[in-house]
Amino acid sequence: MTSSPGHVVRPVDDPHDRSSSPGTEGAPLLQARGVTLQYKTRQHLVTAAYRVSFDVYPGDRFILLGPSGCGKSSLLKSVGGHLPPVEGSFTLAGSPVLRPGPDRMMVFQEFDQLFAWKTVIQNVAFPLVTSGRCSTREANDRALLYLSKVKLTKFKDSYPHMLSGGMKQRVAIARAMAMEPAILLMDEPFAALDALTRRRMQDELLELWDNTNFTVLFVTHSIEEAILIGSRILLLSPHPGRVRAELNCDHFEHTDQGGDAFITLQRRIHTMLFDESQAGGPDA
Ligand code: ADP
Ligand code: MG
Repeated sequence: MTSSPGHVVRPVDDPHDRSSSPGTEGAPLLQARGVTLQYKTRQHLVTAAYRVSFDVYPGDRFILLGPSGCGKSSLLKSVGGHLPPVEGSFTLAGSPVLRPGPDRMMVFQEFDQLFAWKTVIQNVAFPLVTSGRCSTREANDRALLYLSKVKLTKFKDSYPHMLSGGMKQRVAIARAMAMEPAILLMDEPFAALDALTRRRMQDELLELWDNTNFTVLFVTHSIEEAILIGSRILLLSPHPGRVRAELNCDHFEHTDQGGDAFITLQRRIHTMLFDESQAGGPDA
């Protein structure tokens, strides 16, 4: 991570001009093109996201930021292949996303995403074996490697109930990363943690990224977290989510919090997210 204070705002009416985005040459890994997502309930048709487009490049820490209910989780679910768009499409490495696959691994907010009856190492190895990717022995080796990356080697034989919330999230991250997906999908993974643990996990995720340079699509409703974690941030309007703007933001660390540049960007994002004069499009 560098700590230069500048940032680049890409206007929303120029959604695919990357001329001002350093380090983003080459083809996008994930493309969203005009994605509209809807839920049909008995009484209503709910539009969760409306004509959302963005590009995620290899090595991006790409953030979907917006208020609760703006469709962030729905977008992530759709990238995961669990919610087909009613309009538009996702393309991953040139192929349309049509169903779930091991090239997209998800980490959720909840602490109960691990198998309670399996040890830490068994939890991490399990998808490697069941997907047919590795033999049991190879899966154990790879699980150990990724547990060391999230600093949990000592707890490999513990059961989930013996771990803190932060440790469980680290197991979930190790399990997803061990599959070596093309893109890691994280849905508010630290939102249920206490403030200090959350902060440590944010730093650890960045450290992990520095060491392995994976591509991550990270959902949050916290402006602060988006600035800290993201290399790029997509701002979504309140329900239904539409793209408000996209920022390059690969500059900030916890030590910058409270500084002028950090606060200015925080305020600017807040205005862009909630300024009704920027709103438009359909009501859901
Ligand atoms: P976010 O993650 O940004 O909080 P969601 O993607 O969870 O937003 O939800 C977006 C909108 O879609 C909300 O209005 C929510 O109520 C609605 N929604 C989400 N899941 C369902 C569902 N399974 N059935 C009906 N509506 C849903
Ligand atoms: Mg959500």
